[in-house]
Amino acid sequence: MDIVEKFIGTHELTRKEYIELLRCSSDCSVSEKLSEEAVRLRKHYYGDKVYTRGLIEFTNYCRNNCYYCGIRRDNKHISRYRLTGQEILDCCENGYELGFRTFVLQGGEDPWFTDDRLVEIIRAIKAEYPDCALTLSLGEKSCESYRKFREAGADRYLLRHETADDEHYRTLHPEEMSLRNRKQCLYYLKALGYQVGAGFMVGSPGQTTENLAEDLIFLKDLSPHMVGIGPFIPHHETRYAKERAGSVQLTLFLLSVIRILLPKVLLPATTALGTLDPRGREKGIQAGANVVMPNLSTVKNRKQYDLYDNKICTGEEAAECRGCLSRRVESAGYHLVNERGDAL
Ligand code: SAH
Repeated sequence: MDIVEKFIGTHELTRKEYIELLRCSSDCSVSEKLSEEAVRLRKHYYGDKVYTRGLIEFTNYCRNNCYYCGIRRDNKHISRYRLTGQEILDCCENGYELGFRTFVLQGGEDPWFTDDRLVEIIRAIKAEYPDCALTLSLGEKSCESYRKFREAGADRYLLRHETADDEHYRTLHPEEMSLRNRKQCLYYLKALGYQVGAGFMVGSPGQTTENLAEDLIFLKDLSPHMVGIGPFIPHHETRYAKERAGSVQLTLFLLSVIRILLPKVLLPATTALGTLDPRGREKGIQAGANVVMPNLSTVKNRKQYDLYDNKICTGEEAAECRGCLSRRVESAGYHLVNERGDAL
């Protein structure tokens, strides 16, 4: 219990201590204590507000081959799609009417979307919706490209580091990718003035407690404005098809830990959490999360953005997604708001 008190008091631990804390993740009294403190901090900074981000999954073409991901390059069994600029703007229009004030453009690393094309899309969205924040989640680019997107008006960037341990990173990604580059991208993005989001999968194949301690150390060092974590979920067309999914309980535990580690962080209760547990996102909010990301993508393409098996919300219209999430957030005792929800 000492370690819990210490963490609550100092918001930071040593590697050894993080490992000790993480080893208590199945102890209910510890997780209760952490979630109580997480909720207290979240209420202190954000009251009962939960922010929404309208997620637009605009392409599932990807030049990368991350071994866990359903849309990786070598998966020949999915049909690929990319939205046109007009379709993306239509998603924004629909989202704006529903009250969204942040749009997230997420996709595979699709070379068709050159810097020039992306800049044009970013400019068009920001011209049409100057009161909205625009978040990009397009993977690893050069510092120069990030600069162009920032100058075109992008406000935020999500790039999960996936795992902060080099050896673990190597087992999840092909040789041509590197953790060093991914981390470097995050530091570039921060230097360019983006609100930055890092994060990782919980329970990805081979992940150890030591790896998770490394993730926490990295997060504290980077101090991102946002942290996206969700359980790993196997995809049937990957080498990890037969692996076990990550644990909901451990994910909730880590949400509380991250809220305490970085008290002002914007922390989503993710779709992957909602996929493994029908009340996963409500539980996420009760563990310290304060963001939800309903799907705004074109319904005809939703099933194709197939990162993992049984992904939820692939059939509904955007309005249904928002309505459903709003009810879920209320049922957890919070309030879904129509605000940009910038980092404090
Ligand atoms: N190309 C972008 C977006 C990747 S998809 C990028 O590189 O950032 C968004 C996130 O989905 C990834 O960062 C990863 O953490 C998560 N993801 C991918 N496959 C998954 C799986 N099988 N289970 C759970 N999450 C997964």
